[in-house]
Amino acid sequence: MKHCNLCGNAVDENEYRVYPRPRKPNARGLIVCAQCQRDKPRCAVCQTPMPPARAELSICAACWREGLNCRACGARIRDNFLMINGNDGPYCEKCYRDHAPCDLCGAPANDGAVLYADGRLVCQRCAQTAIADPRDAERLFDRVVDLVGATLGLRLNVRPRLMAVDRARLVELARHATANIGHADGKTLGLFVRMGRKRVVYVQELLPRILLIHIAAHEFAHAWEGENAPLLRDLRLREGFAEWVAYHALVQLDAPKKAAQMLQRHDDYGEGLRHLLEVEREQGIAGVLQYCRTA
Ligand SMILES: [Zn+2]
Ligand SMILES: [Zn+2]
Ligand SMILES: [Zn+2]
Ligand SMILES: [Zn+2]
Ligand SMILES: [Zn+2]
Repeated sequence: MKHCNLCGNAVDENEYRVYPRPRKPNARGLIVCAQCQRDKPRCAVCQTPMPPARAELSICAACWREGLNCRACGARIRDNFLMINGNDGPYCEKCYRDHAPCDLCGAPANDGAVLYADGRLVCQRCAQTAIADPRDAERLFDRVVDLVGATLGLRLNVRPRLMAVDRARLVELARHATANIGHADGKTLGLFVRMGRKRVVYVQELLPRILLIHIAAHEFAHAWEGENAPLLRDLRLREGFAEWVAYHALVQLDAPKKAAQMLQRHDDYGEGLRHLLEVEREQGIAGVLQYCRTA
């Protein structure tokens, strides 16, 4: 009989997961029961569940021991470091202090950062996987829409189309959107707009692939809400549902790390997502849709 390394409870076969140490493939890894996988805080670097006492530090003991490197400059971190809410890290203090943040992910935009024509400063990582061809962005959007249709049962009478626009245009659209049920400020990355029979998901052009999957699924979910849950006013549920859809899309399209980071957010998005995953565990996917329809 095995025991969960976090809570000590006995676990049956298939009821636990082993989290290996990436840098020590021969180490035994941490056995974590299903409950602890859900409830325990996660290490911001390796996403492994950890004892609640480490939540303040946000980094697990193993990562501390193995040493931390700044994700921007690669240097070994000897003292203070920073994490970015819902995103990668850690970053050293010097990078954080000396470089402006990436407009897309918030990471310090140091060597290799790119300044786009619309004024966005984008870090090397985000620029490297940017989808430049609008047709590629449309194809990825179609893939996301088909996927959430097939796996979550989200279908719409009027299928929205995707349009990639520059930042200034998106801000302007967000200001004028009459039926905008998304969120709108200078940082807006995507927007769902309904005008008569027309449905459009607008996104910032040149988004990195994983971010585009996230935003496309998130905004498509708002479109679903418009048709199926028009009375859903509660911000935490409305954004939580959009994040729940994006979470599933990211897991299925091979971005589990990004999905795990979404769970860590301490705001309406993260709280709403965790709440709906709980509803899903109890009542299944259909239960989540029903919950949002009638909330
Ligand atoms: Zn446990
Ligand atoms: Zn860790
Ligand atoms: Zn650095
Ligand atoms: Zn970035
Ligand atoms: Zn939203």
